[in-house]
Amino acid sequence: MQLDGGGADVLGFGGRREIGRHPLHIGGGVRKGDRLARGRGDAMQDAAEIAGGDLSGGCACGAARYRVSRAPIFVNNCHCRRCQVQTGSTSVVNMFLEAECVDLLSGRLSEHVVKAGSGGDHIICRCTACGTALWSYYPRLGRLGAGVRVGTLDDPARVKLDAVIFTASKMPWTALPEDIPCFEATYNPAELLPPDRFSRLEALIVQRAAGGG
Ligand SMILES: [Zn+2]
Ligand SMILES: [Zn+2]
Repeated sequence: MQLDGGGADVLGFGGRREIGRHPLHIGGGVRKGDRLARGRGDAMQDAAEIAGGDLSGGCACGAARYRVSRAPIFVNNCHCRRCQVQTGSTSVVNMFLEAECVDLLSGRLSEHVVKAGSGGDHIICRCTACGTALWSYYPRLGRLGAGVRVGTLDDPARVKLDAVIFTASKMPWTALPEDIPCFEATYNPAELLPPDRFSRLEALIVQRAAGGG
């Protein structure tokens, strides 16, 4: 499993054999300089359903439209160098959830493979007409989990950010939020996520370990 925003694939729960033995420790933990805000309780995201109905989004040209029918498991703003290169920007914001809950309603997508931090394939799905990246599949979860680009949602403000990651490589003039946990690299989702959301992540990891995705 990877909890970065796009390219680093660094969550590193230690490979498939580790999953059964350490199901609750799949991340790197808190590092020096990390800020961990506790006591969050976002009603929209802690529920499996999305308050206000499904999320919708699409590409820049309008050909590709999609719908997300379940609340994200987690949402990261990733400042790793891979995400910076892939987006040409300071960082990326991705919401991760079960891929089966993301439906392409119109248009066609092309898949573009780049290397994740683990060395595995990170597959970026783009509108064939305009090239906008809509979501990605990462090596740790394969096609079981999708990392949807929050910027392509019709209303990105409906999604609450869980964490800012890889701040160690952020561009020096980029400001970090005061009220969102920030990490120099990645984090342990067992520590950060509410139990209901973490259990969804665990379920995907178990499916992946069994050969899914
Ligand atoms: Zn398009
Ligand atoms: Zn990244």
